[in-house]
Amino acid sequence: MSALSASRLLRTLGWPGWRLYSSKPAQNVHLSKPVNGFSFELTDEQKEFQATARKFALEEIIPVAAQYDRTGEYPVPLIKRAWELGLMNSHIPESCGGLGLGTFEACLITEELAYGCTGVQTAIEANSLGQMPVIIAGNEQQQKKYLGRMTEEPLMCAYCVTEPGAGSDVARIRTRAERKGDEYIINGQKMWITNGGKANWYFLLARTDPDHGAPASKAFTGFIVEADSPGIQIGRKELNMGQRCSDTRGIVFEDVRVPKENVLIAEGAGFKIAMGAFDKTRPPVAAGAVGLAKRALDEATRYALERKTFGKPIVEHQAVAFLLAEMAMKVELARLGYQRAAWEVDAGRRNTFYASIAKAFAGDIANQVAADAVQIFGGNGFNTEYPVEKLMRDAKIYQIYEGTAQIQRVIIAREHLGRYKA
Ligand SMILES: Cc1cc2nc3c(=O)[nH]c(=O)nc-3n(C[C@H](O)[C@H](O)[C@H](O)COP(=O)(O)OP(=O)(O)OC[C@H]3O[C@@H](n4cnc5c(N)ncnc54)[C@H](O)[C@@H]3O)c2cc1C
Repeated sequence: MSALSASRLLRTLGWPGWRLYSSKPAQNVHLSKPVNGFSFELTDEQKEFQATARKFALEEIIPVAAQYDRTGEYPVPLIKRAWELGLMNSHIPESCGGLGLGTFEACLITEELAYGCTGVQTAIEANSLGQMPVIIAGNEQQQKKYLGRMTEEPLMCAYCVTEPGAGSDVARIRTRAERKGDEYIINGQKMWITNGGKANWYFLLARTDPDHGAPASKAFTGFIVEADSPGIQIGRKELNMGQRCSDTRGIVFEDVRVPKENVLIAEGAGFKIAMGAFDKTRPPVAAGAVGLAKRALDEATRYALERKTFGKPIVEHQAVAFLLAEMAMKVELARLGYQRAAWEVDAGRRNTFYASIAKAFAGDIANQVAADAVQIFGGNGFNTEYPVEKLMRDAKIYQIYEGTAQIQRVIIAREHLGRYKA
């Protein structure tokens, strides 16, 4: 989609984001592909999406983030507002009523939302993860039905793959789907599903080949499942270390009937679809981690300029200044990492290597930078009156979901060595 049509669409839809936050006229430039090859310059349109997300984060998310963290309440008003502003579901194709933006634009938006609160950002990002299998593998009818409705109202969806007995080792999932006439009957249990209790529909991965020796590339099938289907039991909201306003649940599927029309591509194609989604969703997850790290850096820098010890601001102690310098280096490099990964996939190239590098690096540095921010705050950093302890708790999940830090290294090593063996 060109930048011009994206801007027109925003205006046509009358989204308040465009009216409130846009000051510059749209220009006819492409969103994801720099005109002159390598470029660090964002297009005007990209700057506008970024500015809209930044303003929303500063003015509407940050003031309420601590409250949502304390209560664990799902941030419905913020999600509705993000939807109105065009900051959710940005990659839904134009043919389904969406903006059809690239992964690069999604990342720019995600970094800003995460700067405000990564609990809110994860709830929003989980929609992208749930939608991505439908975007990459759905037929026209499936896309119009399930993506289209998300452009008409602020609905959520979820990606149901992990189970109590299988997370990293996806091929060990046990949820079964058995064909009976024109339907499949689903039985099994999923775990750690973000938006699990809020979703309107799920992407679900289930085993269709009962032979546990069958290769993963043929044994699993991807389904779209309506969340109100009889036989679905949604578990309690999990009480997590961080990102507490995000909704994480276990879900039981008991004789859930799904029409065969809701199979993505064909029986047996599910594993590739489920894993393929990550090439487009890991860069935004990395961008979320960068947003958190940038927030920690900003909070720590402001504090270090104010707090005095031994007669001078602590920033004048070289140990503190150098710590800030290290934090800044990490934020800048992690941002380049997600931008490269997003740019590659938007250019139509296989980006698995870059997506895992971006996700692994950003997940790690978010944890390091948040912990360093707590250090710079001293005793105050350990206290809930200040924002950085939340950042430290929130950061941890970036080394766990969408493939752990270790699994990213498994992928990076495989991709790296593959180039030498080829
Ligand atoms: C808050 C939250 C939200 C989530 N959201 C979703 C969601 O929306 N949808 C969904 O499907 N899942 C979701 N997950 C699940 C998440 O993706 C998994 O927790 C993650 O993939 C790890 O799986 P596991 O917990 O089973 O850990 P395991 O796979 O049991 O791993 C345990 C440890 O062993 C390490 N390990 C495992 N295998 C290897 C290996 N080959 N080499 C080296 N180390 C290894 C891991 O890195 C980890 O440190 C979510 C999880 C959480 C906590």
